Amino acid sequence: MSAFDKGINNLDALYREVILDHHRSPRNFGPLQPNDVFIEGFNPLCGDRIELFLRIKNDLVDACNFTGEGCSICMASSSMMTEEMLGKNIAGSRALIDAFRKLMRGEQCPLSVEGDLESLVGVRQFPVRIKCALLPWTTLNEALDSWERKNK
Ligand code: ZN
Repeated sequence: MSAFDKGINNLDALYREVILDHHRSPRNFGPLQPNDVFIEGFNPLCGDRIELFLRIKNDLVDACNFTGEGCSICMASSSMMTEEMLGKNIAGSRALIDAFRKLMRGEQCPLSVEGDLESLVGVRQFPVRIKCALLPWTTLNEALDSWERKNK
């Protein structure tokens, strides 16, 4: 466990368990071929590095996979995000990205997040880790920008 990963020992035990479960068994992990968008994200503060793959059909996220290496919070956030995105349309994906970023930054947000994602909001009490949790979401937003540039 890296020094960064020790930070989550201060999280609520239930939240920590959810994060560690996603870290141990990441969902939608592995390259996706064929894909419509492939994009890389990097968080120099922690060394987190992810690659994101998207397949979009009729404006819906048909598949969303990731690979990479990072701390438990980054890997868990990526895993949870890919689960959340499946079947969402582009506007719905953007809305959830926006809500999650606002919540992590402690800004006012009209949407709440539910399920496993709630456990990540607890990370916000450790400012240095917020970028770890946000990396996949920022990367996904760039992936959607790239897809829209090519398809609109
Ligand atoms: Zn990290």
